[in-house]
Amino acid sequence: MHGFSSSVLSCLERKRLEEDLSEARIRGRNLSRLRQLTRRERMALDEREQTAQAQLRDHDAEHGCQR
Ligand SMILES: [Zn+2]
Repeated sequence: MHGFSSSVLSCLERKRLEEDLSEARIRGRNLSRLRQLTRRERMALDEREQTAQAQLRDHDAEHGCQR
């Protein structure tokens, strides 16, 4: 499929998902620096990061804007 190239540089949805992911990472890092996290908290943070990562992966697979 051609005609996708114009959307490569300006995929706002992907940019948003990337920001989500880095926000989740930064938040987890900051929290664990502030204090000892409980197992449950750590799991919730991991899950959030993994969800963001999966969304980004799904977006790439479905949208194809990285190709
Ligand atoms: Zn995209």
